[in-house]
Amino acid sequence: MNTLQAIQTLREELNLHNHNYYVLDNPTLSDYEFDMKLKELQDLETKNPEFFDVNSPTQRVGGTITKNFETIPHEYRMYSLDNSYSKEDLQDWEVRIQKVLGDVPLQYTCELKYDGASISITYENGKLARAVTRGDGFQGDDVTNNIKTIRSIPLHLKGNYPEHFAIRGEIVLPFAGFEKMNQELIEIGETPYSNPRNTASGSLKLQDSAEVAKRPLDCLLYFLIGNQLPFKSQFEGLESARKWGFKVPNESKLASSLEEVFQFIEYWDIHRHNLPYETDGVVVKVNDLHYQEELGYTAKSPRWAMAYKFKAEQVFTKLNSISYQVGRTGSITPVANLEPVQLAGTIVKRASLHNADQIEKLDIRIDDTVFVEKGGEIIPKIIAVDLSKRSGNSEPTKYITHCPECETELIRSEGEANHYCPNFYGCPPQIIGRIQHYISRKAMDIEGLGGETVALLFNNGLVHNYADLYELTVGQILPLERMAQKSAENLVKGVANSVAIPFESVLFALGIRFVGETVAKKLAKHYKNIDALERATLMDLILVDEIGERIAKSVIEFFENNENRIIIERLKKYGVQFEIVEKVNPNATEKFLGKTFVVSGVFSTYSRDELKKAIEENGGKVGSSISAKTDFVVAGDNMGPAKLEKATKLNISIISEDKFIEMLHES
Ligand code: AMP
Ligand code: ZN
Repeated sequence: MNTLQAIQTLREELNLHNHNYYVLDNPTLSDYEFDMKLKELQDLETKNPEFFDVNSPTQRVGGTITKNFETIPHEYRMYSLDNSYSKEDLQDWEVRIQKVLGDVPLQYTCELKYDGASISITYENGKLARAVTRGDGFQGDDVTNNIKTIRSIPLHLKGNYPEHFAIRGEIVLPFAGFEKMNQELIEIGETPYSNPRNTASGSLKLQDSAEVAKRPLDCLLYFLIGNQLPFKSQFEGLESARKWGFKVPNESKLASSLEEVFQFIEYWDIHRHNLPYETDGVVVKVNDLHYQEELGYTAKSPRWAMAYKFKAEQVFTKLNSISYQVGRTGSITPVANLEPVQLAGTIVKRASLHNADQIEKLDIRIDDTVFVEKGGEIIPKIIAVDLSKRSGNSEPTKYITHCPECETELIRSEGEANHYCPNFYGCPPQIIGRIQHYISRKAMDIEGLGGETVALLFNNGLVHNYADLYELTVGQILPLERMAQKSAENLVKGVANSVAIPFESVLFALGIRFVGETVAKKLAKHYKNIDALERATLMDLILVDEIGERIAKSVIEFFENNENRIIIERLKKYGVQFEIVEKVNPNATEKFLGKTFVVSGVFSTYSRDELKKAIEENGGKVGSSISAKTDFVVAGDNMGPAKLEKATKLNISIISEDKFIEMLHES
């Protein structure tokens, strides 16, 4: 095989895997194998620049910077949709259609209306050529580089696709990914995003496509447009798009009457809450493309399609009071305490008011009657105040000036939306929050100690910072509420075990503002130990890849604080890791290449994760269940009899841990 062939084979394999994983939700390579192949391809492409391809899977990681997105005209105009809100609206629509077409039998495709940012993607000869935002419908912004990083969008099509066409779809941020992004923001003390839709559309215009690549965006397609498309109806269009490699949700349905359309709407009005992404309605389209052509367009929208909007669920209730929460980093969040009310299947008692500006904008006052809505957001929001119900003697809300927990005067830095309590080392929720962060799973992962116990320990004067945890004794803990001998022992043991946690996690655990998991890893890798990091100047820090001024300043500030330095010295004394242990594995080989292992049971020398790691580091694949594709089952104690039987039946080699270790060391 020559180099070009090798490159092409790798590209095809990686494209196929992306499709299986992101479109079909059915991965066929392990993450490790995928990374290895991607790396191999990257190396080959670097060494052979003549074979560069803008649509190579290596381009998915992004890295291009777009300062100004070029405006380009849409080849086919992007129309909007007419909206309907009731069955009657839809019946009127059908009457209008029949005026044009006569009394012909009509079929409708019913699709969900995905709530994200619309996009038009042009393909030429099966290759993604460009992607343009909707803009004003006539022209939009060229966001091709950003769009290419979305793994479910094919860069190359398969099957019998037309030479030139555009496909329209919606870029969405599924709830799970949205929550994960927010979790990461909360961890570093930043304000979370307010809803998936705005976050998705904001992502399209990020200047650095590598940033877009990190966001778990998805693209759901619903409409093809071009000359000589090889199908005669909208529904067949969806099926074709699916065959060419696009992600087209399977919920769409063909209806033979408006009655069936209503059934679809009624079903999804309830069940949409179980979908992984946001929807705000149903789109009904005349199925037959000839009829579509006859019906044509108004100045604004197609006559052959109609959006049916689900009612956003809203209720009136009363604002009883406003309380102010103090976060781990001191940021203040005002919270509305409401008269409990039923909304979208849950009882709502509280809603976030975000910040002082929001309160001012709403002019919300105690005892007001407010309008609460639950859209895609997890937390309900207050959208308006019913002024007609306000009593004459109500007073404008005065935002607090002092911390509700420690009475320190609040500050608000320029350009920041939230107020802060600057008493970082004396304000109880900040102290407790920092310790809770320290023990959390992604940080020191301390078993036997939970968030509530931390508050209990603090309130009983047993800990004031995370270093104090290491001096706790069973005798001190035992008298606390709900503590027994065993749980007290486990707590002390959990704390003691945390000295095994690697430096990068320790650095994250320290809770330096803006130093999230990824940044902590970067810093740990670069500086190797805490002393070097402590010595770094602002300039040094900014020069580290991906570290900006804001993070750099925060690190400097952290080490300038004497209290922090004392805590770190104490942690060192207790044995916490402040130095990176280089993990490059000199023993990595390819000896298990092409072999699939299943690991089952309990082991004595290695943990299950260590065994899996050893398999993957040596080129093997770890399967989750025994199948005809399994080559070896590594069996520990207590391996289930059903598994054993299955492996025997399929004639798979069952090996012990010792045998595996022997294989590992064979040259
Ligand atoms: P609106 O923005 O409320 O006028 O709704 C029109 C937009 O809905 C279109 O521009 C699309 O971006 C979006 N949309 C979402 N799902 C669909 C779908 N299944 N078919 C057509 N348009 C859709
Ligand atoms: Zn305070």
